[in-house]
Amino acid sequence: MRVLRRGDAGPDVAEIRSALAAVELLPAVSGADGYGSFDTAVEQAVRAFQQRRGLITDGVVGPATYRALRGASFHLGSRPLAHLISAPIHGDDVFALQERLTELGYNAGRPDGAFGPQTEHALRNFQRDMGMVVDGICGAETVRQLRQLSPRASGGRPVFLREQEQVRRAGPRLRGKRIVIDPGHGGDDLGVVAGSLREADLAWDLARRLEGRMKATGMEALISRGPNQSPSEAERAQFANDAGADLFLSLHNDGSASPKAQGVASFHFGTGTGTTSTVGELLAGFIQREVAARTGLLDCRTHPKTWEIFTRTRCPAVRVEVGYLTNSEDHRRLSDPAFRDLVTEGILIAVKRLYLLGEGDQPTGTFTFADVLAHELAKAE
Ligand SMILES: [Zn+2]
Repeated sequence: MRVLRRGDAGPDVAEIRSALAAVELLPAVSGADGYGSFDTAVEQAVRAFQQRRGLITDGVVGPATYRALRGASFHLGSRPLAHLISAPIHGDDVFALQERLTELGYNAGRPDGAFGPQTEHALRNFQRDMGMVVDGICGAETVRQLRQLSPRASGGRPVFLREQEQVRRAGPRLRGKRIVIDPGHGGDDLGVVAGSLREADLAWDLARRLEGRMKATGMEALISRGPNQSPSEAERAQFANDAGADLFLSLHNDGSASPKAQGVASFHFGTGTGTTSTVGELLAGFIQREVAARTGLLDCRTHPKTWEIFTRTRCPAVRVEVGYLTNSEDHRRLSDPAFRDLVTEGILIAVKRLYLLGEGDQPTGTFTFADVLAHELAKAE
């Protein structure tokens, strides 16, 4: 498909318009208007849809937004669902199935709205447990059974409880833990550019500083790209999966048309309707607290998102947007290498706090790199 944006016209724009009308973000298309153009109203509606779905809010219809828009018209039971290798099924109905299976205690992976092998595996286990025909197809009878049951596990989503258990079992030491550090953008993709600062370079600089600190504590820190490369989000996730990473940390800076926008924000996997990576959320929260306390950057909080980088990584993942390059105060701070050291120290302490799971609690912002090293050495004895 071609990428659609404001100013475009044609039958594919008409399709986008009717999909937006179906989710009540645009008034229904009138007959005379049938062909449709991508005007400001459509752009606004696309943005509203992207915001609601945790997609990147740019008002442009690329592959991810297009797929989500098409999938939005399906609800569980409106069509049979199965794992089709040649033409994978995407949609809100698949998402609802994954959420339901997860609630019931089956490991359907991270709900991402795509019917893959793991969804099929979970569905087959469900069918087996229910004494149904085990065909891996979600048809009318399966939907009926799914609706009948009350959740087996309340107070936590099993997939994500498993994540938490892994962190607990991994113990409090950093030594030996494998972290993939992912500097955003790179190569031809500069990210946000403002004055003398370019996001791709800053992300690289922050990644190298973090890598150095992590290695000093005995962690295995791997960087997801070369200094001049710009892998896709899927490739970055694959890198972490192939490395068997314990955690994935993506580093970015933000930019805005408004020069007033400023601060640090962290993102983790979550649908916004209750399904959340608990470890991702916990780590994002620690990063926010530590970085904001140490640097004075405005705390723009943590946010659940269904970005590809989160649905594809198998380990807990967090993306940090460190400051707005388009804000004069944040810009000034980020230009200072000593400030960038403070940022990476905050992130390292946040990772340490995650593995301490609240033990040996020191007030936010007071735990130092030296403390971490001392702690690691004490544990090693
Ligand atoms: Zn970025």
